Amino acid sequence: MQQQTIPAPGVPIVVITSLEERRAKCAWCWDKNHPGVPYPREYSSTVCPDCEAAVDAQIAQVKAARAAAKAERQRGGPCF
Ligand SMILES: [Zn+2]
Repeated sequence: MQQQTIPAPGVPIVVITSLEERRAKCAWCWDKNHPGVPYPREYSSTVCPDCEAAVDAQIAQVKAARAAAKAERQRGGPCF
């Protein structure tokens, strides 16, 4: 499920469809690929599919840890 956001007034909407362009303009890969070069303001906060997958995996890991912790609490146990 993709979250829909409404841009602030005056902020241009940039639609990037090319995979190469998404990788080239990925805000998370930028520092690694362009050390010392600030991320261009005119680029939207693009995230490449690799970083998107990494974020999704991280979120899934956090959710699994929370579910495991909740299950552990519900199972009960010694309260010392
Ligand atoms: Zn990236």
